[in-house]
Amino acid sequence: MTHASLTTSPDGTVSPFLSIVVPCFNEQEGIAHLVERCRASAATIFGDDYEVILIDDGSTDNTWDMIREEIGKCAQVTGIRLSRNFGHQIALTAGLAAVKGSVVLVIDADLQDPPELVGPMLQRMRETRADVVYGQRRSRAGEGWFKKKSASLFYRLLERTTDIIIPRDTGDFRLMSRRVADLVARMPERDRFIRGMVASLGFRQVPFVYDRQERFAGRTKYPLRKMVAFATDAFLGYSMVLLRFSSLAALGMFLVLLVVAGYSLYSWMYLEVVPGWTSLMISTILASLFQLVSLSIIGEYVGRIYLSSKERPLFVVDAIERRGHDGGEPAASAGVDPQARPPQGIET
Ligand code: UDP
Ligand code: MG
Repeated sequence: MTHASLTTSPDGTVSPFLSIVVPCFNEQEGIAHLVERCRASAATIFGDDYEVILIDDGSTDNTWDMIREEIGKCAQVTGIRLSRNFGHQIALTAGLAAVKGSVVLVIDADLQDPPELVGPMLQRMRETRADVVYGQRRSRAGEGWFKKKSASLFYRLLERTTDIIIPRDTGDFRLMSRRVADLVARMPERDRFIRGMVASLGFRQVPFVYDRQERFAGRTKYPLRKMVAFATDAFLGYSMVLLRFSSLAALGMFLVLLVVAGYSLYSWMYLEVVPGWTSLMISTILASLFQLVSLSIIGEYVGRIYLSSKERPLFVVDAIERRGHDGGEPAASAGVDPQARPPQGIET
């Protein structure tokens, strides 16, 4: 394996380098404590072989000054300042694109997800030989009824309407291998729903159950408006269910048509009806049926154009083995030019 970020100790064991990625939007109250806890958790396992990447997502408070203060104190801290507020998922992507480590921990700035879990998560990653260890919330302290209920409904609906299995009750808190981080950073899609993107990549992904804590400081940066935008990205990006609505309606209309047409013909033959009623009924239903069928055909085309415009890799190769080679995990970005998108898929 030729990974620049792996250091080999004298006894030959390879120890990983950890990158912690933290998107921050108006989190000035929490930065110092956040960095302190991330550093303490990382140092116990990785020594000096870690970095904390803080992405300032266009904060309007003193977040950037606080980040610079931490950079001044410690060589392991890196700050990335975005030119404006791009949103949590894009800020996270900016961080993933900058990592040096061989394992990457994604965490929120508010310490709702304890950085101390990096040790047990790494252990689980090794035991299960997984590429992704995702945090799965057993409980969510300090979050209101509405947040909990809406999140629960969201994950259940998503599970029913998408082909990709996006695990329930998970956030972006996760430990992933470098190759997964690189693949996510390289995906060109704009409306990003990172936990879905990670799930869509495959490899072995295992849960790690934990209790979500209360926010350390400040208030949630996900007001209802951002929550709705986030959920919309997830549904539109991972499920064709809305586009298929007209197909379902057409099917329903067809059944209605059969019943109503039968009844109209029956009334025309055996009951007294106003002249023209039967033909009017049948032609109206036929016309709307025709429109629904056309819409559903267009919907299928639009869906396909939409999905292909995302330019997701067609497939992802886990490992290639040849005689004389040890196989194993190839370096993630080997020889892949982000500008030249290979049409057949991505080899990690
Ligand atoms: N965040 C961000 N940009 C945004 C909104 C949020 O970078 O536009 C960050 C925020 O600073 C935090 C993480 O995303 O580190 C999750 O946000 P928050 O804790 O407010 O969400 P919640 O936990 O309430 O869902
Ligand atoms: Mg939070």
